[in-house]
Amino acid sequence: MVLTLHRGWVALGALSAGLGFAALVFWASAPLDISARVAPAAAPAAVISSIPTQAREVALTFDDGPSPQATPAILHLLDQYGAKATFFVLGSEAEHFPAIVEMIHRDGDELGNHAMTHRSLAGMRPSRVAYELSSTAGLIQELTGTRPLFFRPPYGNLSPVVISAAANLHETVTLWTIDTRDWTGRSAASITTTVLSDIRPGAIVLMHDGGGPRGRTVKALRSILAGLRARGYRAVTLETLVHDSTPEKGATPATQG
Ligand SMILES: [Zn+2]
Repeated sequence: MVLTLHRGWVALGALSAGLGFAALVFWASAPLDISARVAPAAAPAAVISSIPTQAREVALTFDDGPSPQATPAILHLLDQYGAKATFFVLGSEAEHFPAIVEMIHRDGDELGNHAMTHRSLAGMRPSRVAYELSSTAGLIQELTGTRPLFFRPPYGNLSPVVISAAANLHETVTLWTIDTRDWTGRSAASITTTVLSDIRPGAIVLMHDGGGPRGRTVKALRSILAGLRARGYRAVTLETLVHDSTPEKGATPATQG
């Protein structure tokens, strides 16, 4: 995967090797406008892959669930370590396992939008893209009373249509800083090493709680949470990470807590 993030410009290429290819260069004010995005005012389209922050905080994110095999075990581990995470659920899975969506919300973890069907949205007609996003957001709201603030495109595949559909729903398009590639069947030890060797303040970590057996991800999560704690890091939701982020130069510094 090649993912280069420059201030103001985001170049995306060859995301999720073998699964899809999206080449796109576009103006994005992210990550600097992310604080504005959470404010009620209309915000420009933003794509984030990390959050600028001085705090030793990171966001663990889990895609493709909810899953009865993995999600409750992940929630239990997070609780044990006083950690929070963001779950980018598929609408199709949320329809099957609404109680797990409610459980995520009740635990104080965050629900993100990962579209309805996990098809690549790039190249899809605009009305279909709008449906993929809005139906999932509507389902999350119905189950939890809260609209998702963040959207992650399946396979990381983006197009201007996808970005504008997310903006219409006031959802920030969210990629990642560290890809654990946990879906490839690699060992729990490799997943853990990938995260801990590259961890830094504001990092967004990509993992999966659905889309296949996730025993290794769950096993890795315990070591990841222990390793983060040992390094003085706190795992928080994306919403918290953004809330605690460092404002642009010239603005009042954020309170660190
Ligand atoms: Zn996915």
